Formats: sequence, C-alpha cells, structure tokens
Amino acid sequence: MVHDGILALFDIDGTLVRGARCHYQAFVESVKKYYGFEEDISGINYAGKTDPQILREALELGGFKEEEIEENFNNCLKFMVQYYIKNVHKENVRALGGTFELLDGLKREETLLGLVTGNLEPIAYAKLGRVGLDKYFPFGGFGSDYAERSLLVKKALNLARDQYEYDGDRIFVIGDTPRDVEAAQAYKLTTIAVATGRYSEWELENCGADHVLKDLNDKEKVLKILDTEF
Ligand SMILES: [Mg+2]
Repeated sequence: MVHDGILALFDIDGTLVRGARCHYQAFVESVKKYYGFEEDISGINYAGKTDPQILREALELGGFKEEEIEENFNNCLKFMVQYYIKNVHKENVRALGGTFELLDGLKREETLLGLVTGNLEPIAYAKLGRVGLDKYFPFGGFGSDYAERSLLVKKALNLARDQYEYDGDRIFVIGDTPRDVEAAQAYKLTTIAVATGRYSEWELENCGADHVLKDLNDKEKVLKILDTEF
C-alpha cells in the first residue's frame, strides 16, 4: 500500500518515556568490563546524543586514546545490550502523559510511525516494551546504526520509503532536545519539540523548533499541528 499521509518520527527518552536507570547501569557495567574504568557521564550533557557518541565521549574524557577506544568499542556496545536485556525488568521507565492516547489517535488516522533514537536498537525496543509502547513503531533509525543523529533520521526516511512505500512529504520529527531538532532540520523536516526532557519550552523555541509543546498530553493540539502544517 502506498502511503502518502503523515510520517511521524519519535524520539524515545524524554519524549515518549522517562526513566532509564537500567540503561545508565548497562553503560557503567560495560565500560567497567571492557575498559576497567569507573566511568562517570555526569560531566556529559548526553541528552539527544546517541549511545555510541556518549560512550566515545566518556572514554575520551577518561583519557583513553583512539586506538584503545576502538579496540573494544563494539564489544562494549554488545555487552551493554546484553546487560540491558537481562536487567530490563528493573528498568524504572514509565510512559509520559498522553503518549498512548496520541499514538492511538495517530494510528486511527493511518499515520506512519517510526523512531529516531540514540538508543541501540535492542535497548530501544526493550525499553519501550516495558511500558507497551514498542508495538507502535515498526521501524526507525537507532544509535546502533550510526553515531551521528542526523544519519538516523536519514535511515528512518529511507526505510519509510523503501519498506513502507511512503510517498508523502508531511514528515514530522518529535523530540525533546535541540539535537533532535537539528538532526531533522538537516532534511528540512517539520519539528515538534516537547519540554518533557531537560530543556524548557523557551530553550526549545530558541533552537528553532517549528512547534514547541509543554508535553504530549493534549492530543488534539498535536493532531491539529499535523493536520494544518501543510
Ligand atoms: Mg530524548
């Protein structure tokens, strides 16, 4: 079926869900195992960054050289996934207000839904699965695809076109950080920024988001943006 309606690409952390204690723990444990380093990402503003990007920055901050980083980089990411899947029952994740109502509403309107998230793909689905949100998103661009967020947008766009015969141009990216906005702007997509992460509405307006919302609670408001934008 050729799809020429709306395509909506959602970020996960701070946009659909909140709480990632287990994800953080997976990070700590994998760095400890492969680099023997008690990593501390408290010095990094990791909002909107991809998992491989955060890992690299943490190791660089820890003084590791490029060849030392490279040697175990992929093993470290693999272990992070294993640890996460094994411990996901302890994840303190919860769906943010309005998400189910909005996603159900979008599905009724036959919106094509996808993800653009810095999470590694298995972590993304396990995390969403904890709260029953995984079933809404058949595809996406993930931190396991590329470290650079704009390439995740590109991957999601390509999948929408190739696998879901998406042929429209009403494409939205919904996220909670200036990085989400910037990555979408690279492809001239319409951005909706939500202030449910660490950035305020004011900060999101200043980064050039097309629309800024306090949260996703008002389903009608979001649907109106999607319907009237074009
Ligand atoms: Mg986010």
